Amino acid sequence: MAKKKAKVQTPVQKNQIIEMDFTDLGHDGEGIGKYEGYTLFVPGVLPRERAKVKVTKVNKNYGYGQLIEILRKSPDRVEPRCSIYKQCGGCQLQHLSYQAQLEQKRKIVKDNLERISKINDVIIHPTLGMDNPWNYRNKSQVPFEQREAGLIAGFYAKGTHDVIDMKECVIQQEKSDIMVQTVRKIASELGIPAYNEVEHRGILRHVVSRVAVNTGELMLILVTNGKDFPNKDKLIEQIVEKIPNLTSLVQNINEERTNVILGFKSITLWGRDVIYDTIGDVKFAISPRSFYQVNPEQTKVLYEKALEYAALTGNENVIDAYCGIGTISLFLAQKAKHVYGVEIVPEAIKDAWNNARINGIKNVTFEVGAAEKVIPEWAKKGINVDVVVVDPPRKGCDEALLQTIIDLKPKRMVYVSCNPSTLARDLRVLEDGGFKTIEVQPVDMFPQTNHVECVTLMSRV
Ligand code: SAH
Repeated sequence: MAKKKAKVQTPVQKNQIIEMDFTDLGHDGEGIGKYEGYTLFVPGVLPRERAKVKVTKVNKNYGYGQLIEILRKSPDRVEPRCSIYKQCGGCQLQHLSYQAQLEQKRKIVKDNLERISKINDVIIHPTLGMDNPWNYRNKSQVPFEQREAGLIAGFYAKGTHDVIDMKECVIQQEKSDIMVQTVRKIASELGIPAYNEVEHRGILRHVVSRVAVNTGELMLILVTNGKDFPNKDKLIEQIVEKIPNLTSLVQNINEERTNVILGFKSITLWGRDVIYDTIGDVKFAISPRSFYQVNPEQTKVLYEKALEYAALTGNENVIDAYCGIGTISLFLAQKAKHVYGVEIVPEAIKDAWNNARINGIKNVTFEVGAAEKVIPEWAKKGINVDVVVVDPPRKGCDEALLQTIIDLKPKRMVYVSCNPSTLARDLRVLEDGGFKTIEVQPVDMFPQTNHVECVTLMSRV
């Protein structure tokens, strides 16, 4: 006879309706509270609130619930600005006052450092926020969907791939909304079908728009399933006519069954191959597939902090790992002896060389490749480094790279991170390898969302 699994005793059962108090905010912006000692996660509730909740999932040690009614409101609760906030998966914190968002982000960093890296004695500064935390994003990537009446464009509803018909996004540049809606209207009228990912057919997958905020230049990327399709010439002609200040119109071809938005091949359909933007005194060319920070105002704050932590006097050799189009490298090069940048996307390195040239900056070297492969080669050649800057994607630094940095023994490290949990994991490795974490500066690059960016200074002990 099969053994019956022992039923775990929990104080709540699925579908039960309870009233409870909330004390914390989770890392995805969900409310956390205890009901008779049992932890429940409930999206939409804030700390210090009391709410009526329906239990939706019960695990051994914690469960999930759905908000029915707020019984006592937090003084930090505000009315979300976006009309589709509840459905959309893009923002998580619009119902929390901006000041409380900044405090929450600092807390996330602190929790991660204490829990994962066991670092308790480091200065974590208050988060640097924006005066106007709206309409800041310079890039939007909007999926298209076919409806009977034509095309709709918008973000996916939370936890699904169902497109919400979205006319504006309150955290994006208004010009992005205009570009996306213009393409939607023209493509609809020309009968160009949206891509259907289930059946893997149709044409228009995403429209990516980029706004160079400091120069006003605009790039529009049409991501298509295949190169040719009926009415392509008319589509180009009408987009150029209806978006008069467009700088660059690009087609990116993506024929894969994938959630990755951009494919490897880009064709310029009209105008320039790149757009230019400036950060401080430095001018940058940006290609369709190159990474460029999405919040230009805060990027300046972030880079200035990185520069301050690098404490350059003009005599230092610096490595900028994960350098993208060379933004941080060129910022640092103005105060360093030489900067070596490494980045995995070849187009970005092409942009980086171009950017060095247009700014007349000569004391830089860029190389294409994985940081964890290229930097050990530099180390073998006997490169002498004083400062290492890393700015990895969300998954953090490769273990091999951290080991190489430890062996290179730079005086200082500046770690720019968009994910506090991988930051915390990597800081532990670096601390064990002879570095000490000195201070951490969270910078709010992504207001209204649960994303946290920070710059960390480490010194060799
Ligand atoms: N410092 C740049 C880019 C940061 S984003 C800026 O501020 O604009 C992270 C970058 O790391 C991206 O450009 C990505 O293409 C690159 N990347 C991802 N994995 C990498 C790896 N293993 N080695 C080098 N670069 C990598």
